[in-house]
Amino acid sequence: MTGPRRWLLTPGPLTTTDSVKRAMLEDWGSWDGDFRALTAEVRRRLLAIAAAPEDRYACVPMQGSGTFAVEAALLTLAGGGGRVLIGVNGAYGQRMVEICRRAGIAHAALGLDEGEPLTAAAVDRALDDHADVTHLAVVQVETSTGILNEAAAVADLAAARGVRLIVDAMSAFGALPLDPVRHPYEAIVFSTNKCLEGVPGLGFVIVRSDALAAAARHGTAPLSLDLAAQWAYMERTGQFRFTPATHVLAAFRQALDEFDAEGGQPARLARYAANRDALVAAMRRLGLRTLLPDALQSPIIVTFLAPDDPAYRFPAFYEAMKRRGFVIYPGKMTAVESFRLGCIGAVDAEVMRGCAAACAEAMAEMGVALPGA
Ligand SMILES: *Cc1c(COP(=O)(O)O)cnc(C)c1O
Repeated sequence: MTGPRRWLLTPGPLTTTDSVKRAMLEDWGSWDGDFRALTAEVRRRLLAIAAAPEDRYACVPMQGSGTFAVEAALLTLAGGGGRVLIGVNGAYGQRMVEICRRAGIAHAALGLDEGEPLTAAAVDRALDDHADVTHLAVVQVETSTGILNEAAAVADLAAARGVRLIVDAMSAFGALPLDPVRHPYEAIVFSTNKCLEGVPGLGFVIVRSDALAAAARHGTAPLSLDLAAQWAYMERTGQFRFTPATHVLAAFRQALDEFDAEGGQPARLARYAANRDALVAAMRRLGLRTLLPDALQSPIIVTFLAPDDPAYRFPAFYEAMKRRGFVIYPGKMTAVESFRLGCIGAVDAEVMRGCAAACAEAMAEMGVALPGA
């Protein structure tokens, strides 16, 4: 792939193509018919990518980063007296706990170890202990480690137990499918700047229209995060309620064109899996270890354990990588020292091998001895 100045292996934001960035060179009026058509087109295309039937689901955009959309979904759908069980095996599950805590929404956490996937069996047991739960909130890929949770099995269980499911699919949507006809959910949340490879600034919730209609009647969510009000206004006028991220949406349409041209979800998943495999193989050859066993490792982001060497310091490693053209992430684990490398964005396996080569040089520069370097 032709290189930008820096590869962002920090999803997200992540590396975007030049053509996606160029799609932002035009100004749009938010009231204008062309922009309303753009909004409608993107909403329709996202329902198609989700395989969500248009007669049962709506796609509602929400300005802000992904967390704004997660918060809007929880507050709008569970804010009217709901009781939420939240699967927690990392920072993004914990964030949903914090959202409910601050909003005064009754909730309980199903806490797991950071290296343990959320399974249907664990959710089943937790629902036995919390019989009054109305909603279940789970993360599809916990980006704080890169672990794959069992979203499809959890969705089947939630349906069987009559619990309404909200999925934070931020770092999965577009690459890892979750079919709402086979594995029903009430809402799934994602953003422009993860696997769909747009620039940051907008989140989306694909949500059951009947749940939105019910939420519109009780209307307890805060004004700007009220997903039902956003939906009702958008259905009526074709517009956002408040200033939309116009350039972000224009870039996102280009990103969707590129997603289609690549071959859609299966092709994107295949590229990310190849990226992960190339990265993990090259890093293991250097003697670095992944946090997770391969069976739990998503093709989205990989956590590597920091080398057990007193010369290793993350800030120096970060700077040494940046000088070589790679922007990386610190670990987000509470217990173990680690760093993370994303496999998503406009990058291919060659970039990932280049990243591993840069790691070898950066470690050598710090005086860290790697067995394979
Ligand atoms: C990126 C991400 C979010 C949203 O993070 P923002 O910084 O608000 O965009 C939420 N959940 C998961 C799993 C994520 O990967």
